[in-house]
Amino acid sequence: MGGTFDPIHHGHLVAASEVAAAFDLDEVVFVPTGQPWQKNAKEVSPAEHRYLMTVVATASNPRFTVSRVDIDRPGPTYTIDTLRDLHATRPEAELFFITGADAMAQILSWKNVDELWSLAHFVGVTRPGHVLSTQRTDVSLMEVPAMAISSTDCRRRVSDGEPVWYLVPDGVVQYIAKHGLYLKNGPAKDSQV
Ligand code: ATP
Ligand code: MG
Repeated sequence: MGGTFDPIHHGHLVAASEVAAAFDLDEVVFVPTGQPWQKNAKEVSPAEHRYLMTVVATASNPRFTVSRVDIDRPGPTYTIDTLRDLHATRPEAELFFITGADAMAQILSWKNVDELWSLAHFVGVTRPGHVLSTQRTDVSLMEVPAMAISSTDCRRRVSDGEPVWYLVPDGVVQYIAKHGLYLKNGPAKDSQV
């Protein structure tokens, strides 16, 4: 499951859990993006923070793991590279790429999209306010239970001094506070990991 995870929240975790159950997956690998090409670099927290929050959020689930392939690869993240790298580390595995409606739309618009299909089965998850439609029969669509949570809203809440308890895992609430992430006046001094 790819994402910016800035921060990871319960919408991501529920989506991963639902897809894992529906497709009988052995493992869900969370892959925080490197420099996201679709988002302004300055608006995205350092990769190391996003990686560590994802580790904290998934630590208690034996079937959830986190991969550094995208954050350790220089340059912008392209799904084709993510899949090639994951395939290289797990040559025997049948790969499923889980992503949300917005990201799936971008992936489908890529000119060499058929190349992706040889590497993984694509599963698009929808959430309230995001419509996912595709003519493709080789993409699975799944509705996850209504979880109107977004990272954007979590960041705004922290910035406005509102709670994010129960929107993100407890450890992530504490991580955000410890490193002063998403504060109005910029990150706290120790926010560089
Ligand atoms: P932002 O608000 O910064 O765009 P986000 O909440 O969309 O963040 P991402 O890290 O961009 O989080 O999400 C990774 C993937 O998970 C995306 O493809 C997104 O569509 C999907 N996703 C995000 N939130 C939910 C949710 N509540 N339910 C289902 N899927 C979600
Ligand atoms: Mg998003």
